[in-house]
Amino acid sequence: MAGVIRRLPEPLVNQIAAGEVVQRPASVVKELLENAIDAGANRIEVHVRDAGKSLVQVIDNGCGMSAEDAVLCFERHATSKIARLEDLQAISTLGFRGEALASIAAVAQVELRTRRPEDAYGTCVRIEGGRLKGVEACSAPVGTSVSVRNLFYNTPARRRFLKSDATEWRHILNVFRRLALCYSRIAFTLFYQGEPVYVLPPEALLDRLARLLEPSGPEDWVAVREETPYVALQGYVAKPVFSRISRGEPFWFVNGRYVRHRPLDHAVYSAYGELIPRESHPPFVLFLTLDPRHVDVNVHPTKEEVKFDDEPALHAVVRAAVRRALGEARVVPEAVWYGARLVERTGPPPKTEFGTGPSGSALPKTALMPQGVLRPLSAPYSEACRDSAEGDRASAKPEKPLEPKEAWDPLQEARLFWQLHNRYILVQIRSGVLIVDQHAAHERVLYEQALHALEGGLPATQQLLFPHTLVLPPEDFELLKELAHDLCRLGFVLKWGAGRQVSLLGVPAEVRPGREQTILQELLARYKRYQHAEVSSSSREALAKALACQMAVKSGDVLSPSEMESLLHHLFACQMPYACPHGRPTIIQLTLEELDRRFGRIGHLERA
Ligand code: ADP
Ligand code: MG
Repeated sequence: MAGVIRRLPEPLVNQIAAGEVVQRPASVVKELLENAIDAGANRIEVHVRDAGKSLVQVIDNGCGMSAEDAVLCFERHATSKIARLEDLQAISTLGFRGEALASIAAVAQVELRTRRPEDAYGTCVRIEGGRLKGVEACSAPVGTSVSVRNLFYNTPARRRFLKSDATEWRHILNVFRRLALCYSRIAFTLFYQGEPVYVLPPEALLDRLARLLEPSGPEDWVAVREETPYVALQGYVAKPVFSRISRGEPFWFVNGRYVRHRPLDHAVYSAYGELIPRESHPPFVLFLTLDPRHVDVNVHPTKEEVKFDDEPALHAVVRAAVRRALGEARVVPEAVWYGARLVERTGPPPKTEFGTGPSGSALPKTALMPQGVLRPLSAPYSEACRDSAEGDRASAKPEKPLEPKEAWDPLQEARLFWQLHNRYILVQIRSGVLIVDQHAAHERVLYEQALHALEGGLPATQQLLFPHTLVLPPEDFELLKELAHDLCRLGFVLKWGAGRQVSLLGVPAEVRPGREQTILQELLARYKRYQHAEVSSSSREALAKALACQMAVKSGDVLSPSEMESLLHHLFACQMPYACPHGRPTIIQLTLEELDRRFGRIGHLERA
């Protein structure tokens, strides 16, 4: 009896295999664009009709193909990009499987026109459903044009499976945007039903991304750059006000290839910390360049998923670099009138008015506060902390009290700092006025000081004249024991007694008079609340937040001009001055320009 196993005819094999590479019109756009880029083109034109269902055409001015290659390129596993197994280790092109053209040609009507610079005339190849229909010499510009008509014309089931035009077109736009972002030095034009949708000249990445994405102002993005022996990172992240609740699309490019990578997305989001509300997503475009041996791009046929051999390292580099970039960019909210509504947007930092640049600030992080509501950190740190702080003490220099700036005219102080309803500080700066929330600002200052102390900085303690003894409920007692080491670093001096008794011998220097007795219980209560509410913050962050909130001046506290000045100087010496540890803004800027516009003075300034 004859066998039942049969070899499938080649066109059918291709049709089946095509399912993997060509899922929808957007896959065709992607494969053709990648081929054009691999061919070294610097000008690429894309034409789409009916969401790509009736036509996708890509025209490039790349290297072109010989007559022989123009036919060969449609054969499965025909590629010019890798020749040996070792080449797989170091792929520098977008394509390498030699499957795309064969797969596309299996399920559509394809016409290829191509010419190399050295050839007098070009070649035209027509192929339908995997069957060669004709090859002829033709006149053609240097480069390649591939048009793909009636996708899935011969596989009706798959054609029916396509989504609405709107959906398929959206997929095409996504593919186009990714490649256009990644290759900003290439000119791209995209036509839909004959009308230009995008006309992109060769340009810098920043201009390209502002053209393609929201926010659309180059000044709304912050540059990120980092280089380590393992990886080079560069690109842009949007300023915090542009973060969105919807996910949007994070753009990662690994060695020039678009990828998705959720864990790395989170590294970026977490770098914003309190600058953005929880569960919101700032857009970004970031490029990673690393030795191809550290990345496996071959995980998935459409090659959008990658694996890194040292993901934790990568995570740390990304988070640190983005965090630093945001800190250096000093993303301050600026009040702007839109119609009748006051909204915030980011604006240029007011740093020059204070003479405190991002890192050029001469102020020590734990500098002294003037007398008054803001207590000095002057007491020597406690006996109890000697052990843990010994190492730090050796290198720590004694900190000088904050000297008033020489250029500062005390007579002008009253005019420059104004306390509004004992709640906000108004400060005149060259470009207008800053409105500072005194509690939020002080919270930010104390929060960073506390974090610094927790990381081994120098704690400052005020010894209590009358030690305060408490008996704690069991769970608070356990919690206190757990936090004892960190509390000590913050300047608390505890002495353990019998049972659940604990004596408080010293408290952080900034604790306000009269609060010494209750501070510990209040701190524990707040800590528990933050730990509960914000699972993602570490125990140290929660502790620092609790302490900062506990000790900060309140709305309603009267501040002297020198206290206001000191607070602002400390605020601008912070890493992240523009938001309190809970993510609310500390500063709003109202520019003269804006005021002038509101008062109708724009254009009349000469006459004024
Ligand atoms: P791959 O890109 O994986 O090599 P493809 O099926 O996409 O596989 O293309 C097969 C080959 O055809 C490529 O390796 C390349 O040599 C050639 N080719 C395809 N498109 C172009 C183009 N636009 N310009 C020049 N050569 C091309
Ligand atoms: Mg290809």
